[in-house]
Amino acid sequence: MKTDIEIAQEAYLKPIKQIADKLGLKQEEWEPYGHTKAKLSNTLMHKLDTKRKGKVILVTSINPTPAGEGKSTVTVGLGQALDKIGKNAMIALREPSLGPVMGMKGGAAGGGYSQVLPMEDINLHFTGDLHAITSANNALSAMIDNHIHRGNEMNIDPRRIEWKRVMDMNDRVLRQIVVGLGGPLRGVPREDGFNITVASEIMAILCLATSLEDLKSRISKIVIGYTYEENPVTVKDLKAEGALTLLLKDALKPNLVQTTENTPAVIHGGPFANIAHGCNSIMATKIAAGLSDYVVTEAGFGADLGAEKFLDIKMRAGEFHTDAVVIVATVRALKMHGGVNKDNLKTENVEALKAGMGNLQKHIETIETFGLPFVVAINKFPTDTEAETDLIKTWCHSKNVDVTLTDVHANGGAGGTELAEKIVNKADTDVHHSFHYMYDLDDSLETKIRKVTQNIYGASDIELSSKAKKQLAFYEQQGWGKLAICMAKTQYSLSDDPSLVGRPENFTVTIRELRPSLGAGFIVVLTGNMMTMPGLPAKPAALNMDVDQNGKVTGLF
Ligand code: ADP
Repeated sequence: MKTDIEIAQEAYLKPIKQIADKLGLKQEEWEPYGHTKAKLSNTLMHKLDTKRKGKVILVTSINPTPAGEGKSTVTVGLGQALDKIGKNAMIALREPSLGPVMGMKGGAAGGGYSQVLPMEDINLHFTGDLHAITSANNALSAMIDNHIHRGNEMNIDPRRIEWKRVMDMNDRVLRQIVVGLGGPLRGVPREDGFNITVASEIMAILCLATSLEDLKSRISKIVIGYTYEENPVTVKDLKAEGALTLLLKDALKPNLVQTTENTPAVIHGGPFANIAHGCNSIMATKIAAGLSDYVVTEAGFGADLGAEKFLDIKMRAGEFHTDAVVIVATVRALKMHGGVNKDNLKTENVEALKAGMGNLQKHIETIETFGLPFVVAINKFPTDTEAETDLIKTWCHSKNVDVTLTDVHANGGAGGTELAEKIVNKADTDVHHSFHYMYDLDDSLETKIRKVTQNIYGASDIELSSKAKKQLAFYEQQGWGKLAICMAKTQYSLSDDPSLVGRPENFTVTIRELRPSLGAGFIVVLTGNMMTMPGLPAKPAALNMDVDQNGKVTGLF
């Protein structure tokens, strides 16, 4: 079997101008970034908004294994399949982070014959958006420390600075550091730490901003920490919003590329779904919807994290509708939910699969609770047996759930035409009037957290740490209670304990800490022991990567 990178290198890429022309883009609406990538104007969204509204199809999944269940692959494959059945379709995806690329997962631009290209660029530095976000974030850190060094006119308490430096890599040694050591010329010493760039509030803001003006206004609201009197200090107080917006002006422009079958794709922004909101930018999704009849987009990890935040945060902020949902399920992840160790997932085990179906059931219930039509897509892996895929199909049929086997990894769009037909049918016939958010913005923060943990995770209750209790009271008193919540939770379980696979019951979710992301417009709710700076595994994916003297890349999955 060919590797992803081999397939990508053999694919024929059209000049990006041909893709832009096919979409009917005018000269001022896009600019080439090399031969196969382009940046789209960030005023395009508003121009298109009034013209055409393509249907939005969200791809989500069950709780995944560490290797991922193929949401990006199915997203790309479904876009290609829609093209194959004669529909005018586009794809909207996130930009991969170098942390997981070098660490656990390898590439994150789809897989097999359903990839976005050029995958070497997309998986590495792409058009520099993540670097720009890193720079903007760290410019703010430098300005905070400079302010304190220059006399601290605002009386910022160095022990209460929440704003962290970032880098786009898994680097555990930077989680907690001390800066400013070495005497008066080197600043004021204080404890600091690094987050991964994709967990930065700047990333979340970029993905939720609808214009340069909105970007600036959101950035100015960021709370960087507190004064000695415990009053919040914002970016506006530091007068840094202009410079940060300037650093982000090109990163705010969505990127246009194409798939292995030349279907147009917009790739933009990439917040993690476990510690951030997990969706590509509002601009990317809405531009794609404005340029096509169907946009297929994904939200990270399972429906408990990605889909909830897509629907409660992104869709609310972007003022658009979702028309249908694809729930990706894999035999291997369902076997894991039935208790199989991750080293034995390739062996047939119908009993374990049966035992793991509760996980799929819960995610189906979640999408039903939101009131959206959906199709279950079994993403077929070479190790799946017929007995196993048949079991999932029979189970779905017995529950009156629409299901289809997709093979887009091995066959590209041709492997997903049945899914394409079914999803078009759902999106076109089922209207979204039954949709409702999981919580109202008017609910208190605690009620919002309860609604998500009880209705989506299936928890019996929440347990608030004393720190979280104090923060809840303080945030409500500050007038931040009407913001959305962004849950930070392990992706491996419906609960906050990664070892509780399947469909756990009678568990409580521990709310450890909250963090205000006023620019993004939400309060981050940290459950369990979530890391905002991951580490590399024992055998990082980076060990397989290489480039030869001609610049040919190998081992990027
Ligand atoms: P997710 O978006 O759910 O994290 P991805 O689409 O990135 O998952 O897929 C994770 C990895 O699994 C990729 O390397 C991809 O090539 C591989 N993969 C996905 N679907 C299949 C499949 N059906 N058969 C074999 N490998 C697959």
